[in-house]
Amino acid sequence: MHIEKHLDVINACRFCFMCRHLAPVGNVTFREADTPRGRALILDKVRMNPEHLRNPDYVRAIFRSELSAACRFHCVSHYDEAGLVLAARRDMVEAGVEPENVKALAAELQQQPAPQWDGAAGELVYFVDSRTAETQPGIAAAFRKIMAENGLACRTLTGDTGKALWTLGYAAAARKLALGFRDAVRSSGCRTLVTSCPASLDAWTHDYPAMDAALDDRVRVLHTSEFLLELAERGQWKTPAPAGGPVCCLGSDFLKNFLDRGDVPARLLRKLGFTVERFGTNDEESYAVGEGAVVYDRLEPELVKKMCARVAALCRDPGRLITVAPYTRHALSAYSPRPLPVLSLEELLMERGV
Ligand code: SF4
Repeated sequence: MHIEKHLDVINACRFCFMCRHLAPVGNVTFREADTPRGRALILDKVRMNPEHLRNPDYVRAIFRSELSAACRFHCVSHYDEAGLVLAARRDMVEAGVEPENVKALAAELQQQPAPQWDGAAGELVYFVDSRTAETQPGIAAAFRKIMAENGLACRTLTGDTGKALWTLGYAAAARKLALGFRDAVRSSGCRTLVTSCPASLDAWTHDYPAMDAALDDRVRVLHTSEFLLELAERGQWKTPAPAGGPVCCLGSDFLKNFLDRGDVPARLLRKLGFTVERFGTNDEESYAVGEGAVVYDRLEPELVKKMCARVAALCRDPGRLITVAPYTRHALSAYSPRPLPVLSLEELLMERGV
């Protein structure tokens, strides 16, 4: 079983309470099974008796994880509780015991069209994942406008990296999409690949090498915030500075807890004259409402509503909420119990006249 590669995590987490306050699902369900400790106890039983892999309550708990990795990031020993969940999902998929809604979604995700190109060939490529293209077209439109205003030519690639299937535990199907994506990038002559989607960035950085589908070493991969910060720090920002003002940056699970670059969006905003204020009660909690599980809103909409309600309850200031991940922008817009003043980073920069 894949979980056996994570015995250190099972042994460390099963009797540890230290990060339970950072478990986003646990914070809205109040169930021990929705914390790293609860999941480690479940998987310790599975380890001792693999028949427990079929226990429907255990299966539901593992697929209910939002995979924010906030607990891993802030654990003093960085035990890979998120990696343990991913391994357990893979074991469950390989045993054919995953929930029916997961099976249906995975079948849908395997029917993705081939990657689509738009614009003239060039070394700079902006990638838009299919879900963002469908649910948040304003993000790509804003980024392309910023690029045009800065006199930068960029070709757009739209498609699926395989990240959602990988996160659901469908490793072989994810690899098939990854290889198609890699071939598309390889044949394009791309040298810089930029995306607004931190999940895609994490797929290229961590998942592709793990599935033996790594992108060419010569291709640099960046989040839009990193690309724009570099532009600003080189003094190459050609359009008027934005008006600035106070904003709260909700951050990204992938950018912070998986890629350790969580400070970049706030640095960009400060560089462009914004005042970045803290959201919520602490700097450790995830407010990305399920971003780490990539398609969490498709599987657990009621839990996403609860997580959005938590964000709405903490949002007391009338100032802007800025999202770094398209998933979070979409979920807060679609599932919050009240309208929130939420914009993506790219939309904010465009709205402020950058
Ligand atoms: S991730 Fe770290 S803090 Fe959290 S339960 Fe495991 S050992 Fe404890």
